[in-house]
Amino acid sequence: MKRDDQTGLASGGNKTRKLEYLMADAIGKGCTSIITIGAQQSNHCRQTAAACAVYGLDCHLVFRGEEPAEFTGNLLLCKMLGAKLYFAGMQNPDNYAETLAQDLDKNGVETYLIPVGGSNIVGMLGYMDAVQELMMQQQVLKIQFDYIFFASCSGGTQAGLMVGQRMYDLKAKLMPVSIKKAESGNPPIEEIALNLCNEFVSHQSQMKPFCPADAEVVKGYDTPGYGVVTGNEKKALHKLATGEGILLDPVYTARAFIAMIDFIENGLISKDSQVLFWHTGGLPANFHYGNQLY
Ligand SMILES: *Cc1c(COP(=O)(O)O)cnc(C)c1O
Repeated sequence: MKRDDQTGLASGGNKTRKLEYLMADAIGKGCTSIITIGAQQSNHCRQTAAACAVYGLDCHLVFRGEEPAEFTGNLLLCKMLGAKLYFAGMQNPDNYAETLAQDLDKNGVETYLIPVGGSNIVGMLGYMDAVQELMMQQQVLKIQFDYIFFASCSGGTQAGLMVGQRMYDLKAKLMPVSIKKAESGNPPIEEIALNLCNEFVSHQSQMKPFCPADAEVVKGYDTPGYGVVTGNEKKALHKLATGEGILLDPVYTARAFIAMIDFIENGLISKDSQVLFWHTGGLPANFHYGNQLY
């Protein structure tokens, strides 16, 4: 298991690697305020709030939906980390954030807008580095992974790993598990990841474009809907918590983990395979779901 749940920023997660580059870009451009967007249990928003606290920047977080009566899980931590919270209500959160940025700019504040999940060609650089790190760890541990399972949602982690795989010649097959099913307004994850890779490649004359087959994802585990906890997620949480003392999260990593278990138990990958589970974090969401989890 690769423990990106231990990366720091107010309880860890994969957004730390993206924020390493996004915060540097913001500070390099002289920005003093960060704006980003997410669901109310967004780990990305919580980690962005923590990163802003570290660098002394103002953090503005735009959430989908109405303000809840009580702040729990990630949302509670966002508040505690000193971020300014906004609830877009019926409005499209992207438009809300755009208007907020314009208002702040008018008042002379230099703002830096981070997209959902920190998934753009700056954020994904963090996961290219992560592949280089993994290559070194494979060498030290004298192990070569055949499969890497991880949760894929806004695409930056997957895209970074895809480009990194090529850059560092990682042999393992990437197994991105789709977390949020395609619906009107959110295109399929493989399309998002592919577009991010090719946007990156367009700035990199020596790299060939990626094709749809490169961006294939594991599907079928996303059908209950985003953030919906079923017996599958509960089974994954329970299995790893009681078996290893390691906590997954109900939204992302439990879904990716159950997919991996299915592939192993049903013989979809051969018995002698070396399998890596890339734990992408999400711990605080457990405290929001509470007794739905056992
Ligand atoms: C954001 C997130 C993911 C998905 O990463 P993307 O880069 O958005 O695809 C996976 N797991 C956790 C815990 C996350 O917070």
